[in-house]
Amino acid sequence: MTHIVVVGGGIAGVSTAWALATEPDGRPRPGIDVTLVEAEVTLAHHTTGRSAAQLIENYGALALRPLTATSLPFFREPPPGLTDAPLLTERALLTVGGPHQAEAIERNLAEGRLVNPTIVEIDRAEARLLAPFLRDLDGQRYVLEPESADIDVAGLHQAFVRGFRLAGGTIATATRLDTARPDGGGWRIETTDGPRTAEIIVNAAGAWGDVVAAAAGVAPVGLEPLRRTAFMVRSPWGHDSAGWPLVADADHAWYVKPDGAQFLCSPADETPSDPVDARPEEVDVAVAIDRINAATSLGIRAVASSWAGLRTFAPDRSMVLGPDPDHPGFVWCVGQGGTGIQTAPGAARCCAALALGDAVDDRIELAGLTVDRFR
Ligand SMILES: Cc1cc2nc3c(=O)[nH]c(=O)nc-3n(C[C@H](O)[C@H](O)[C@H](O)COP(=O)(O)OP(=O)(O)OC[C@H]3O[C@@H](n4cnc5c(N)ncnc54)[C@H](O)[C@@H]3O)c2cc1C
Repeated sequence: MTHIVVVGGGIAGVSTAWALATEPDGRPRPGIDVTLVEAEVTLAHHTTGRSAAQLIENYGALALRPLTATSLPFFREPPPGLTDAPLLTERALLTVGGPHQAEAIERNLAEGRLVNPTIVEIDRAEARLLAPFLRDLDGQRYVLEPESADIDVAGLHQAFVRGFRLAGGTIATATRLDTARPDGGGWRIETTDGPRTAEIIVNAAGAWGDVVAAAAGVAPVGLEPLRRTAFMVRSPWGHDSAGWPLVADADHAWYVKPDGAQFLCSPADETPSDPVDARPEEVDVAVAIDRINAATSLGIRAVASSWAGLRTFAPDRSMVLGPDPDHPGFVWCVGQGGTGIQTAPGAARCCAALALGDAVDDRIELAGLTVDRFR
């Protein structure tokens, strides 16, 4: 029996725990015993519970885009028994840029064509029809990603938890890994809930990824947690705006996403942070309100609620998946950045295959994902 401890109960941890405990066809994987440890009392307390819940194929470092592509079948047709409700709901993405943003629009279009031919430039009239809340600014250009979608993040997270438990996996909350020391062919792990042993540790600790590596005597990869702010405002159009697209600035200066009778807003900020329980700063909310009021007719004057989360990036902004070359029993699953939800099914299967020595989906180029590129 191979004992595996997965560290972290966000989307990366629960999806990878599920992928380790189950064969690609969904049956429990024989000879593997997986325990997930989460420091907090509840799962998904940190970044996973704070996202904008959008699937965008034309987003993130080019090296990790195949992870979104290989996730799509799971999202569109989840494996039987994992969830009763759909994980995706249609919501187009409209990227907008003024005359000074031509380069960003061209890049967006060129990269979009590589992932989905339905990503096209549309004209002013069509954009106004789709997103009537946009101000009609001269020289503005519009790129539409019609197959973008809302993700039911809680449903997705719960689907992995359910699949993991059905396959015999164990979840220990309020259990923080404090140290791990090589012990025979594996690890002796000290946690806040007592010692454990395992042949393999999977580091899915999000912003704490390098902290967990240091606790196991493994060299860091240089993860950078970047704070991103989000807040909700009332929609002046009530529920009429619910089906409008997510609209994002081409240079990532702001975005807004309709949500029921509200809009989720963000300055798309990236402020370096220690790994902490992130909190929003008033100034970041104020910056977003200025930018969004200039670009839309939302007329924001009051904020209903606000929060912040840490999007954690490796130095090249791609993910870090698979065993460490210097410590093969230490498996990385970090650097999810701004795409950890939409890539979870594909990244989890890729990471599990690398950990167990199985074949990886041949659409995935490992050179941009394994830790070897930093060693
Ligand atoms: C505002 C915002 C908008 C976003 N929008 C999107 C989006 O639209 N689409 C998308 O795909 N992504 C989006 N993201 C990014 C996405 O949320 C993240 O990539 C993803 O949630 C990261 O998941 P994770 O499991 O790596 O990290 P986390 O959810 O932070 O989980 C890590 C867990 O590890 C635990 N942990 C740490 N150290 C230890 C230890 N020593 N022992 C035990 N447990 C430990 C922590 O307590 C934590 O629960 C957004 C993020 C933000 C902040």
